Order: sequence, then C-alpha cells, then structure tokens
Amino acid sequence: QHPGSVTVIGLGPMGRAMAGALLDRGYGVTVWNRTASRADDLVARGAVLAPSPADAIAANEVAILSLTDYVAVRAVLEPAAQALRDKVLLNLTSATPEEARAGARWAAGYGAVQLTGGVNSSPSGIGQPDSATLYSGPREAFDRHRPVLEALTGRVEHQGEDPGLAALSYQLGMVIFWTSMLSFWQAVALARANGLKAADILPYATETADSLAQFFAFYAERIDAGVHEGDVDRLAMGVASAEHVLHTHTEAGVDSTLPAAVVDLFRRGMEAGHAGDSFSSLVELLAKPAD
Ligand code: NDP
Repeated sequence: QHPGSVTVIGLGPMGRAMAGALLDRGYGVTVWNRTASRADDLVARGAVLAPSPADAIAANEVAILSLTDYVAVRAVLEPAAQALRDKVLLNLTSATPEEARAGARWAAGYGAVQLTGGVNSSPSGIGQPDSATLYSGPREAFDRHRPVLEALTGRVEHQGEDPGLAALSYQLGMVIFWTSMLSFWQAVALARANGLKAADILPYATETADSLAQFFAFYAERIDAGVHEGDVDRLAMGVASAEHVLHTHTEAGVDSTLPAAVVDLFRRGMEAGHAGDSFSSLVELLAKPAD
C-alpha cells in the first residue's frame, strides 16, 4: 500500500537524505530547492520537482523544511503564504526557540501548523533506526504524521506544545557538541605542534570523552540540589590546572583563545568567592550575563 506523499523543501545534505529516505519507503516525494540541480538525483529516483515553493506546498499536506536558517525559511515561505492553509510544516531548520515560536505564529496566521524538530543526526543517520529527532508543537499533528517522522529518524519524541521547546533542546545539544568538538580540534592543534597526529591522540581523547557522561551525572545531581561543595574538587585547583593547559599552548606557540577563555572563567569564579567550592560553582556565574 502506498504510504502517501510528502513535500521536501531544501535539498542540502539533510534535505536530500530525508527525501531519499522517504523514496526508499515508497512515499511519493515532491521537492523544491533554490538551486534546482540539487534535485537531479532525487528526480531520477522518482521525485517530482515543483516549479516554485507555492507549488511544492500545494502538492501535499505535509511539507518538510530543511533550510540553513529561518532567514531562508522566510525567503522561501513568504511568497508561498497563500498555499499554506491547512498544511503541516515540519520545520527541521535549526533556529533559536524564539525564532521557532515566531515562525509557528506566522504560519498559524495563514492557517498552517508548524511542528518544530531538532534532528540529532548527521545526514548518514537519516532513515536509520537509531537516529533521533525531538519535536514540539501540536501533539495532534505529531501523532497523525508519526509514520513520516519515523521514516526520517527511527526514534521520535514529542516534548510539548511549545514550538520553541524542540529548538531549545537542539541548541542545548549543540552547546555541548560545538564546544566539545572544538576542544578536540584544540587538542589536535596542540598535539600537532608537538609532532603528534590526530590518530596518535585519538585513544586518549576518546577515553576522556567517554568519562564525561559520569561527570555530567555526578554533578547534575549536586547542582540541582544546590550543592557546590569542594569535597571532590576545588576551583582553586581547577584554575591552576587550567593555567597549565594555557601555558602548554603558549609554550608550543599555538592559538590559545580557547584555553585563555577557560582560565578567564575560572578566575572570575575565584573572584566571585568560589575558590573553595567545586568548579561546578561556575554554573552560578554562567547563569547570569557577564559583567
Ligand atoms: P545547508 O545549509 O547545507 O542547506 C540547506 C538548504 O538551504 C539548501 O538547499 C539551500 O539552498 C537552502 N537555502 C539557504 N539559504 C536560502 C535562501 N536564502 N533561500 C532559499 N534557500 C536557501 O544545510 P543542511 O542540509 O546541512 O542542514 C539543514 C538544516 O538541518 C540546518 O538548519 C542544519 O542546522 C540542520 N542540521 C544539519 C545537520 C548536518 O549534519 N548537516 C545535522 C542536524 C541538523 P541551495 O541549495 O540553493 O544553496
């Protein structure tokens, strides 16, 4: 039995993977992309290339939006606003929570419903059982279109009605992802300055990364209980350690922007009177705007 038809707007690596996953499952797929040639492979596999965003949206009840940002979303949707009545926009474009809420309000003004999604997967994970997406927005739309959502990532979760919630969850993940990956690039740069390759430090970097989950769990419980006791670690020890990291960089003559920022945060924690507390006390510093 034919599972139905879906529109995909935006054929970057993600949109192309999503349209491909839908075709694999037998969906009819209508696509639109600013650069039309990106649709060639999908058209060869049976997708229909719509001549405009309005035509693409008119073709199906559900339209997936996979664009660079909400500036692109507006550029694409504004000329197509009259086609939006009774449509479901599955907006998988990265955004801030406020942008996602404003987008949902704007779409509602034209009679469309927006489900915001944050995809926790790279393009290669699209269509795979273990990849996941967090959604927020109308529960009814989530339930009704669940098979489409599960065709994109095997695991899906509805977090709540607020369309900003999924955007927030996505950004929370990205805070950790970008800074963690940057910390790896930093370690590789330092290693290279010392004659080592990325592959040489990979086992040690992996061991450190794997240990983080335990630290998250240990400190999360204490932070939520308001405990920053310096029984396991003290910020005064932390600042000395962060300074060794910084000086190892200056010794090696590599960029020290990132380690210097870490030392700066630790020192501010000391100045705020947390020398004897755990370095988790930096959460209290980070929860307010910087002076
Ligand atoms: P890209 O930025 O590579 O491509 C997205 C699409 O946006 C392209 O089709 C591009 O069109 C289109 N676009 C950009 N600006 C405009 C505009 N002004 N008007 C019309 N179209 C425009 O993104 P990805 O495919 O990599 O990702 C899509 C979304 O998914 C992003 O929000 C990203 O943050 C998120 N995401 C990406 C992941 C990844 O690993 N790639 C992982 C998880 C989420 P054109 O082809 O003409 O340039």
